Amino acid sequence: MQIAKHKVVKIHFTLTDDDGEVIDTSEGGEPLEYLHGVGGIVPGLESVLEGKSVGDHIKVSVQPDDAYGDHDEDLLHEVARSQFEGIDDLELGLQFQVDTDDGPMVVTVVEITDKTVTVDGNHELAGVPLNFDVTVREIRDATPEEIAHGHAHGEGCHEH
Ligand code: ZN
Repeated sequence: MQIAKHKVVKIHFTLTDDDGEVIDTSEGGEPLEYLHGVGGIVPGLESVLEGKSVGDHIKVSVQPDDAYGDHDEDLLHEVARSQFEGIDDLELGLQFQVDTDDGPMVVTVVEITDKTVTVDGNHELAGVPLNFDVTVREIRDATPEEIAHGHAHGEGCHEH
């Protein structure tokens, strides 16, 4: 069986940046399971996996255009520190959800001064080339329910 749209695929993967630092990996744990062809993983990786078989080993470098996009300076916002009164754990890297004109957005605190706090609405991997080392472990047909939901259902419990 080959990877195609609406196959459920299990992969082991290691993701590194251009300095070789590991950003994420499934090694030592369960493989990642995803529904192919519906944008459940970054486009640059999904397109490379198309047509691959169990046991295939792939190394691919995905540029931001095919992953989480470029870092957008317009998504940096400086707000008055007084707006964070009452938040005890304000620190660099703190993430929280805000309501914007475009809907809810997760932002990250990237700078704190005496008077201001700068938050960044970019995905943490925006602008980062992603180097994937992937081994295909399992391929099966998706169930009608999985196709309807647009994602894979793992073994055992799955609740919505
Ligand atoms: Zn579901």
